Amino acid sequence: MLYHSTNNPSHQVGLKEAILRSLPPDNGLYMPDQLPVLSSDFWTIWRHLSFQEMGFAVADAFFGEDVPAAALREIVEGTLTFDAPLTMLAPGDFILELFHGPTLAFKDFGARFMARLMAWLTRDDDQELTVLVATSGDTGGAVASAFHHVPGTRVVILYPKGKVSGLQEKQLTTLGGNITALEVDGSFDDCQAMVKSAFLDQDLARKFNLTSANSINLSRLVPQSFYYIYSASQLPEGVNPVFVVPSGNFGNLTAGLLAAQLGLPVEHFIAATNRNDVVPRYLRSGNYEPHPSIATISNAMDVGSPSNFVRMQALTGNSWDNMKSRIHGVSFSDEQTRAAIREVKSMHDYELDPHGAVAWLAARQWRATHAGHPTLSLETAHPAKFIDVMETELGPGSVEIPERLAVLADREKSAIPISNEAAALHQWLRDTLS
Ligand SMILES: *Cc1c(COP(=O)(O)O)cnc(C)c1O
Repeated sequence: MLYHSTNNPSHQVGLKEAILRSLPPDNGLYMPDQLPVLSSDFWTIWRHLSFQEMGFAVADAFFGEDVPAAALREIVEGTLTFDAPLTMLAPGDFILELFHGPTLAFKDFGARFMARLMAWLTRDDDQELTVLVATSGDTGGAVASAFHHVPGTRVVILYPKGKVSGLQEKQLTTLGGNITALEVDGSFDDCQAMVKSAFLDQDLARKFNLTSANSINLSRLVPQSFYYIYSASQLPEGVNPVFVVPSGNFGNLTAGLLAAQLGLPVEHFIAATNRNDVVPRYLRSGNYEPHPSIATISNAMDVGSPSNFVRMQALTGNSWDNMKSRIHGVSFSDEQTRAAIREVKSMHDYELDPHGAVAWLAARQWRATHAGHPTLSLETAHPAKFIDVMETELGPGSVEIPERLAVLADREKSAIPISNEAAALHQWLRDTLS
C-alpha cells in the first residue's frame, strides 16, 4: 500500500516511511492511497468475532499488503490484552470504557500498536530509533509505557509545565531507562510545534532517526478504529450507534471515520470539546480558525490547532457540507463538566472523568432532540487520573485509585526543563543524542 501527503497526492511513500517519518516533508499528513473497505464476508460475521479477531481484520485491511499475517496477528494480540467494555447508564445512554489499559487512557490502544508495528518495521535496522512525542497529558504516559525497555528505541516526551495532572506527570517522568521527559515552559501547542519543527529539519530527523508518536502518526489511528467496530457489534442488530467523542487533536474521531469508511454503519458522530472549540465552530460556521489553547479541567483536550483536522477533511471529501452532515460539534465549559460529574454520580453511581463528562453532556443534549438511537460516549481515561477534580466534586476517597497508578505517587519525578522554542529542542537533541 502506498501513502500520500494530504498536501500533495503525488508525494507517495511506502508503509515504513509513512510510519517512521510520521510527517511528510511538505507538512501535510500521510493518508492511505486507497482507503480500505472490509468485505461483505466480514460484515456478515462481524458480530460473532472476538475483539482480537475484529482488530486483526481491520489491521489486515490497512497493513496486510506489507506485514505478513502472522506478524500482524501478533501485533494486534499484543496490543489488545485488555477489554473495552460497554456500560449502560440508562437505556440508550452507553459509556464505552477505553481506560482498561496499562496507563488507564484510550491512548494505550494506539501507543501499544504503534510500538509493536515500529519494532517490526525496524527489526533489521542498526540505527537507534528516537521517538519524539508532545503530550497534553495522556499520550506521553501511554507512549512511554509502550516503548519502555524496547531495545533500539529511545523516547523523548515534551509536556507543558504545570498543565498536566500530578499523576499524569508521574507517568511521564518516573520510568527512566530509555524514556526522557522534557518539561516545556509553554503550552501543549508549543510542544506540538516544537516536535513538528524537529521533523521538518531533515538533517536532524535523519541524523537521529526521529519518529513521532503523536496522532499525526497513522499507526496510532488504525488501532483506535478497532473499538468503534467492537462496541457497535454489541448493540442489537439494526441499531446504529451515535458515537460521542471527547476531542482535542481529533485522532480518536478520525479513527471513527476510518471505521465508518471500512463499512461500519454509524448513525452520527458528535465531536465534544471543552472551550477549545475550533472544530465545533467550524462545523457551525464553515470557518476554520485555530487559536491558542485554553487550559481546562479536561486538559488532554486543550488543543487550539487540532492536528488531525486535515484527515477529517480528507475523510469527508474535503467538503464542509459533507462533514457537518456526519459530525455534530458541541462544546462545554468547566462548570458544566463539573456539574455533569456530580450528576452522573448521583443519578447512576458512576464516576466519569472530566473528558468522559464532556462527552456525556454532548450525548445527553443529542438524545434530547434525537430519539431512537443509542449514544456511545467514549470514556477516554480512568477518573483516578484526575483525582483532584474528582475529589473536589465528589469528595475525598470517592474514586478508587488503581494499583498501577497508586504506586507512582511515591516515585521521584525526573524531567529536564526547557524553553518553548523549537531551537531549544533542536539544540538539546544535538547535544544529548550525538
Ligand atoms: C488525548 C485525549 C483525548 C483527546 O483525544 P484526541 O484523539 O486528541 O481528540 C480525550 N480524552 C483523553 C483522556 C485523552 O487522553
